[in-house]
Amino acid sequence: MGDFFERIVDVDVTEEQAGALAARTISWLVAEGVITPELSSEGVYSPGADMGHPPGRNWRRAVADTPGAPWTPGPVAVMTGRNSYTAGQGGDEADRATCPRCARTVVVIDPPGRPEPDEAAWRPFREAVAVWRRTGAASVACPSCGTAVPVTEWDFGPGFALGALAFDFWGWPPLAEGFHAEFRRYLGHRTHVHTGKF
Ligand SMILES: [Zn+2]
Repeated sequence: MGDFFERIVDVDVTEEQAGALAARTISWLVAEGVITPELSSEGVYSPGADMGHPPGRNWRRAVADTPGAPWTPGPVAVMTGRNSYTAGQGGDEADRATCPRCARTVVVIDPPGRPEPDEAAWRPFREAVAVWRRTGAASVACPSCGTAVPVTEWDFGPGFALGALAFDFWGWPPLAEGFHAEFRRYLGHRTHVHTGKF
């Protein structure tokens, strides 16, 4: 089955809480029949996780009403630890970063004119993400207003997320909006949803 994924990133959980929350969420999904407790590496290409939980007997309850419910999905991989996630394929930059203090936007990738990211614009963010991954805290000075804003508070748009817990649904039909809402309620946190291909 597919080499594509739908990813749910918890953007609020701390690294210290992520392991326990991951274990509780897996238990919940197993109890609901969405996944099984077994592990499989088949079709899993997640960053930092090479195994996932195969779909359970009730996996269809998680997906949108896809006529003909076409195929059996692959495993659900669970990643813990601070990381950055980009939607789509390749690249580890956000398209843009908007300062939450002054609302000015740093443009990093401008698709019409320039497919390559603006490395000078992204470098301070790349460096801050690396420090945040190691230590849990880092700031980027806003080029417009000068405020040192924690890297986790910048608005990177829908295609880039920082988080310490993420779930990759490999080869699943589109997840239902109701399932996403349930998932957010279960985590008790804000989430970002990405789709992409390996
Ligand atoms: Zn600013």
